[in-house]
Amino acid sequence: MKAVIVGGGIAGCSTAYYLAQLGHDVTLIERDSVAFHASGFAQGALNPVIRGSRQIEYQKFSDFSIGLHRQLAFDLSGHSSNEKYSNLNQKASVLLVKDEFQATAAKRIYESYLDDTDVDCRWLGLGELSHIDARISEDVVGGLYLGGAYDLDPYKFTLAIWQAAESLGANLVNLAVEGIAIKDGLAIGVRTSDLIIPADVVVIAAGPWTGGILNECGIFVPVSPLRGQILRLDAPDPPLKISFWWDKDYATSKPDGLVWVGTTEENVGFDAQTTEKARDLIIDSAIKMLPFLSQAKVVKQTACLRPMTPDNMPIIDSDLNVDGLVIASGGGRQGIALGPAIGISAAALVTGSEPPIDISGFSLSRFSDSK
Ligand SMILES: Cc1cc2nc3c(=O)[nH]c(=O)nc-3n(C[C@H](O)[C@H](O)[C@H](O)COP(=O)(O)OP(=O)(O)OC[C@H]3O[C@@H](n4cnc5c(N)ncnc54)[C@H](O)[C@@H]3O)c2cc1C
Repeated sequence: MKAVIVGGGIAGCSTAYYLAQLGHDVTLIERDSVAFHASGFAQGALNPVIRGSRQIEYQKFSDFSIGLHRQLAFDLSGHSSNEKYSNLNQKASVLLVKDEFQATAAKRIYESYLDDTDVDCRWLGLGELSHIDARISEDVVGGLYLGGAYDLDPYKFTLAIWQAAESLGANLVNLAVEGIAIKDGLAIGVRTSDLIIPADVVVIAAGPWTGGILNECGIFVPVSPLRGQILRLDAPDPPLKISFWWDKDYATSKPDGLVWVGTTEENVGFDAQTTEKARDLIIDSAIKMLPFLSQAKVVKQTACLRPMTPDNMPIIDSDLNVDGLVIASGGGRQGIALGPAIGISAAALVTGSEPPIDISGFSLSRFSDSK
């Protein structure tokens, strides 16, 4: 089967990998370069979903995807040309809380895990936290410790899974797709400015741009961009041993030797510029929790766009008003964690087989009757 995938982010590259593994003829079409957008510039935290915080199908999908990441950390090493692929690190994550109200909620979560020996969830007061890192602000009341979290470099991961797909025969075409070529209600390929690239099945994995490609064929996809910015800091040693979260913000030491701090959530359309305002907000927030960061220097500032859906769950569907079409998008704030599961599920839809995890909650029709 000839599959054409639009979008060289984590969703498209993972789909390409799982389809190439099955021996299909795969073409990935990317107008910029692989991992050029959010998939190359995200933070790269794979945090397990806290029980009760999301819909159960989302939690199962996320757990399944983190399991795939662990498997891929092995599988991709066989394809790397010059160095061993060791991008995935288990790294505990602590949700820092700043007042008694937040502490009560965090302790309730901790108590809900008391009978679960599989999940390493603990409540730590400031005294205990300061044994992990004495540089945490004294304004912090405590933290919810999650041992089963992972961290990776999203650019390296997306590139590695693409290179693995390529080594299995997938091709990259560097062009912008303008629309879907349709004949008698069936997608027969994609249109660029001067050619049609034929396909048996077309996968649209174009992140926040997914809706723009599909609107013209009467398929309304409510995926919208939400800008996020990150600062990479040259901070005093030692590196942070674990990742810290508070509200929507975070700080973590990355293998590049820098401390990455974030973030913003800005509704500014497709504008992916960095701003001074965001830099000031991010650094102020980080210094409140980790005062030693006041001595850090900003080395790099990045901005990119999360593909958001109204209910913060992905869209993975082929039951559309055009046959031969699959949507794989809407990873939102957790698109790196969810990427492999989005890819393996989209690949199953391409081949007409049952996805290995329940995706019935991720249909497009949940938003409207526009099928
Ligand atoms: C600041 C920030 C931090 C984040 N941190 C995390 C994190 O710690 N953990 C986590 O799990 N997630 C995180 N995310 C979310 C994650 O980055 C995204 O959900 C994920 O990268 C989306 O992947 P994607 O493949 O769907 O889209 P993208 O990475 O946006 O890829 C889509 C691709 O499609 C291409 N494309 C679009 N239109 C066309 C066209 N017409 N023709 C050809 N190509 C086209 C684009 O060029 C792009 O390369 C973060 C996001 C942000 C912004």
